[in-house]
Amino acid sequence: MKIGILNIQGSVAEHLEALRKLDVEVVLVKKPEDLRGLEGLILPGGESTTIGKLMDFAGLKKELKQRVKRGMAVWGTCAGAILMSQLGLINIEVERNAYGGQQESFETEVDFDGIKIPAIFIRAPKILQMGEDCEVLAKYDDDIVAVREEKMLVTTFHPELTDNLSVHRYFLEVAG
Ligand code: GLN
Repeated sequence: MKIGILNIQGSVAEHLEALRKLDVEVVLVKKPEDLRGLEGLILPGGESTTIGKLMDFAGLKKELKQRVKRGMAVWGTCAGAILMSQLGLINIEVERNAYGGQQESFETEVDFDGIKIPAIFIRAPKILQMGEDCEVLAKYDDDIVAVREEKMLVTTFHPELTDNLSVHRYFLEVAG
């Protein structure tokens, strides 16, 4: 299986390290051609405004939407989740930096699809609304923090910053 990681800004190296522990071929995606033949793409956490602008600059947005139409899976972590909402890849509405600034970042545990996993929130967004076809995979208190819609997955936290590979494994199943 071939999985891409959008290599523009943010937690690229951490996702790469996680995928290397799993049995997949990894492609670092910088230009539209890099999306060819991918079963799935990860949009890392970072700064959504920066990543979005550089995606525009690289001409990646249009090609990404086309690949999704043809069945490619996408997983966005934190800023990646914001971008997926903005690009209309998943039917969720988000509020950026909804827990406050860097100082309000925190680590907790969440139940993800029945498994307890560590969850790190860094200037994380909140999911304010979601469409009927969205499935909630994890909550933190009353907040929805992981959602799946068909082959689209978002987490408002950062599984790539922990040693736990559960969400990466889950995404490979979605993509496979
Ligand atoms: N606050 C960032 C944004 O709005 C996201 C932070 C993150 O990815 N950890 O893009």
